[in-house]
Amino acid sequence: MVKINEHYTEIGNNYLFAEVAKRVREFKANYPEKQVISLGIGDITQAIAPAVIEAIHKATDEMSDAKTLRGYAPDAGYDFLVNAILKHEFQDRGIHIEADEIFVSDGAKSDTGNIGDILGQDNQIAITDPAYPVYVDTNLMSGRNIELLPCTPDNHFVPPFPKKTADVIYLCYPNNPTGTVLTKDQLKLWVDYAIEHQSLILFDAAYEAFVSQENIPHSIFEIEGARQVAIEFRSFSKTAGFTGLRCGYTIVPKDLFAKTSKGEKLSLNALWKRRQSTKFNGTAYIIQRGAEAVFTPEGQTQTKETIAYYMQNAKIIKEALESLGLSCYGGVNAPYIWCQTPDKMTSWEFFDLLLNKVQVVGTPGSGFGASGEGFFRFTAFGNREATLQAVERIKTCLGTENN
Ligand SMILES: *Cc1c(COP(=O)(O)O)cnc(C)c1O
Repeated sequence: MVKINEHYTEIGNNYLFAEVAKRVREFKANYPEKQVISLGIGDITQAIAPAVIEAIHKATDEMSDAKTLRGYAPDAGYDFLVNAILKHEFQDRGIHIEADEIFVSDGAKSDTGNIGDILGQDNQIAITDPAYPVYVDTNLMSGRNIELLPCTPDNHFVPPFPKKTADVIYLCYPNNPTGTVLTKDQLKLWVDYAIEHQSLILFDAAYEAFVSQENIPHSIFEIEGARQVAIEFRSFSKTAGFTGLRCGYTIVPKDLFAKTSKGEKLSLNALWKRRQSTKFNGTAYIIQRGAEAVFTPEGQTQTKETIAYYMQNAKIIKEALESLGLSCYGGVNAPYIWCQTPDKMTSWEFFDLLLNKVQVVGTPGSGFGASGEGFFRFTAFGNREATLQAVERIKTCLGTENN
């Protein structure tokens, strides 16, 4: 009989969001007249920028004519998109990246999950805790050793260096789920660690567009030396509402090398190129035209307006929680507010309290890792009306208890 990849028996069952959905479903079955509001989803709610929609329509029309029709896309993305990314995200910010270091893809989830394909099984992995579940689960799937780096208020959510020297380090800043950031100086210490130990940093910058403060890096390549030690993952998902359209890109500098068992140094850029050209056939032309339009003046204005709208939600949520005496983190350079539960409740106890008493849904922090226990994630991706309503309900729920 066929044998499975045994490591798949070691990963959890995507328990978190399934369990959230189950508890909400059960509540609704018992109280069909009550209206539930969600501040739990990590997905967009606002319409996609008109400039993007227009570009997508135009590209779709090109498909109806044999003269302008496009078939398979280049594996690493069309030049028009690669060049727009290069100019707006890197050259204009004084960051040295070259066109053949940019690999356009269908999103950062696939790339952060697939990057392990080109890395050996015996690498020692370090991952911040709590974290976006893809990093831990994909490394468990391939049977690698993982050390978790707890990020809590005690260390101001700055990950401690691993006890066991790490070959590969996952960092995500601005962070999902905590909404916290690293300053340039703090990130520099990790680049220095990686240079010293010849490690590789896998830097997830999915939320870079939400950075609002001066000394917070948008890209790890703003840090001196990072070209030698880092791969960066980026996405149009949260930046421009592409969660359902699908487009992202990964930067693999040509200064990056890893060794074979015989000690030979190989280029990770060449390996990733080989991996993508074998297993990936490019993102849809139509969607790449939509992504290109994000960089037009109209696209920039429109997508920035939407981000500002979400960040106003973040401010509303954070201020309300703080007015109730709760300790909150994030929400300034990220669309997530990471909040300590009241009265030392577990994450799930707080979930049940909010759902049963005032019908507000958030995400239990413990679902993102052991260090998330006692925390709760609220997202700013809702619409304003629902956010305001949710906040009033939370005040009713906790205000009457605490005062
Ligand atoms: C949403 C998110 C992504 C983006 O994933 P896509 O596949 O590009 O939609 C990547 N990393 C983190 C941490 C995220 O929260």
